[in-house]
Amino acid sequence: MSLTFASLVVTTALSANLPLVVRTYDAVGVSPRTLEQAHASAALALAAAGIRPIWRPCHAAGCISRPKAHEIDIRIVNATGLSPQGSLGFATVDIVQHAGTMATVYVDRVDALAVQTVVERGWLLGWAMAHEIGHLILGTTNHAPFGLMRATWTVTELRRGLPLDWMFSARESAEMRRRLSEEVLDLSHEDTKLTKAHEEAQWPSVGSVIQ
Ligand SMILES: [Zn+2]
Repeated sequence: MSLTFASLVVTTALSANLPLVVRTYDAVGVSPRTLEQAHASAALALAAAGIRPIWRPCHAAGCISRPKAHEIDIRIVNATGLSPQGSLGFATVDIVQHAGTMATVYVDRVDALAVQTVVERGWLLGWAMAHEIGHLILGTTNHAPFGLMRATWTVTELRRGLPLDWMFSARESAEMRRRLSEEVLDLSHEDTKLTKAHEEAQWPSVGSVIQ
């Protein structure tokens, strides 16, 4: 992550006033330093969209409850043989209600891509988390042609460190703020059907797929 990006986001971060509780389940045991980097990386992207994440590790009691409005869950796991090939993660989105509260990130794939691209592991993990958070808040598995919500993250993009590659668009940011303001993330009712996960950001030879 470049200082340029950090500086650029500082300005917009001042208006990041919509809180979002992010409950994290770390099943792998990511180091505190990497988690700290990931939180900073994701927070910068979200701050530029006017959202202030409140990180809540879920090894503590109380995270077994269903997420409330303005709360989402992110699981940090290693990929398995059942994980979609090339995917860095996925978000479970209710495609009927256009909302979601849980996402998963494959940290072992993030690590491998970080090594390949010489990007800090924590920064990349944070971008993957922010991307999935974007899906949950926007309530869609769709992707954008540019920016953080694009489907495929190429090695070239990762190596060039262009700040705009890791930011939400103005339109996405406005929609996320609108939806958060309306508390549309509340899916705590029993009859909600989590219909479909989204598959995006891919990680083939030329890029990484993040779902
Ligand atoms: Zn995606």
